Amino acid sequence: MVKIVSVHARQVLDSRGNPTVEAELSTSRGHFSAIVPSGASTGAHEAMELRDGAKEYAGKGVLKAVENVNSIISPKVSGRDFFSLDELDSFLNSLDGTANKSALGANAILPVSMAFCRALASHESMRLFEYIGRVSGTKDFVLPVPFLNVLNGGKHAGRENDIQEHMLVPSGFASFSEALRAGTETYHVLKGILRKKYGGEAALLGDEGGFCPKSASLDDRLEMMGKAVSEAGYSGEVHIALDCASSEFFKDGNYNIDGKEYTPMELVDFYAALVERFGLVSIEDGFAEDDWSGWRLFNSRMGKKIEIVGDDLLVTSVSRMKAAIERKACNALLLKVNQIGTVTESVEAARLAFRSQWRVMVSHRSGESEDSFISDLVVGLAAGQSKFGAPARSERTAKYNQLLRIEEALAETGKAKFAGKGPSA
Ligand code: PEP
Ligand code: MG
Repeated sequence: MVKIVSVHARQVLDSRGNPTVEAELSTSRGHFSAIVPSGASTGAHEAMELRDGAKEYAGKGVLKAVENVNSIISPKVSGRDFFSLDELDSFLNSLDGTANKSALGANAILPVSMAFCRALASHESMRLFEYIGRVSGTKDFVLPVPFLNVLNGGKHAGRENDIQEHMLVPSGFASFSEALRAGTETYHVLKGILRKKYGGEAALLGDEGGFCPKSASLDDRLEMMGKAVSEAGYSGEVHIALDCASSEFFKDGNYNIDGKEYTPMELVDFYAALVERFGLVSIEDGFAEDDWSGWRLFNSRMGKKIEIVGDDLLVTSVSRMKAAIERKACNALLLKVNQIGTVTESVEAARLAFRSQWRVMVSHRSGESEDSFISDLVVGLAAGQSKFGAPARSERTAKYNQLLRIEEALAETGKAKFAGKGPSA
């Protein structure tokens, strides 16, 4: 049982220079804070992110959400004992009273949930990942295979009708730190290839720290990634994956990539050919968030061969996941805490995925902060895969550096197990 002494929220900035919410929660053990991330290619079914819509910050201020923490949540939870994270999260949900957290805003509820999770860990004298492990029933901690988004496209590079994320997957290594080193070395080799082929501007960075070569087609990008992997000396150990974020280029039943139209059936063939040519191990959001028949088609054709990840499709929601399980729409969950809005519901989503023999990839958002909560989350859940962007820019490296710390802490007890060496991750 832990008594919350006070909760205070403030408006701070995220990695895109947009406002976001930081909450600070105090207990007898100290002060615990957390910052909410924010997406650009958001799913239509995500929990509501409250924005002010006022003149300041071009409508993107979050003072209403801040006020909801300070004037509604804080008076109700301050001075009160909570037995568990679940109890606080359920209380916050009932205070909100809507299905999508639109009354208080997911960006008001989530930082309080995350900060209280940190407080509970401290009261138990546990590291955050250990506490999350206890809450989620994890037996053995696992360091994730990092999916490194080295080429940014789509909304993250200011473009339409484009594949959003091109990721390196360093899975063939004995430890997380070796995998991160190999992925990072490959990132730097890729930078050299891009500069040589397209000039210095091609190596400028997008929202997630990946390069944004303007004139490179999808084929060029994947070829250059393959070349970087082999020049770095990691053929067979570093693989390639995509997040297409296809809801962004889906219109009237068809998909438009790079100016070319595809029916869902043609898109399945298109992806299958990419898998064949470039050895892709995972494709996220290959189909739009409500194109269930497209997802089913793709999963029945490719689901035994590669990982098929639902992001906008699932929005980390148990009810959307149940529909996807029933329809056999995908075989992996992308877990984003702010899509659902509490830590407890994020853990529930992961547990349902595990029970369904799905893989789980814990993900950042394109708008991030220095908060590295998700690094502890991915290890605490033993999820096995992380998607934290390129190995560059502090809001991304904050997460990788925390994973390095966790790996070191686990190594001291001989328990630093790495999730790599599997067939596709
Ligand atoms: C994604 O689509 O997986 C992603 C991280 O982007 P965003 O945060 O913009 O939704
Ligand atoms: Mg995505």
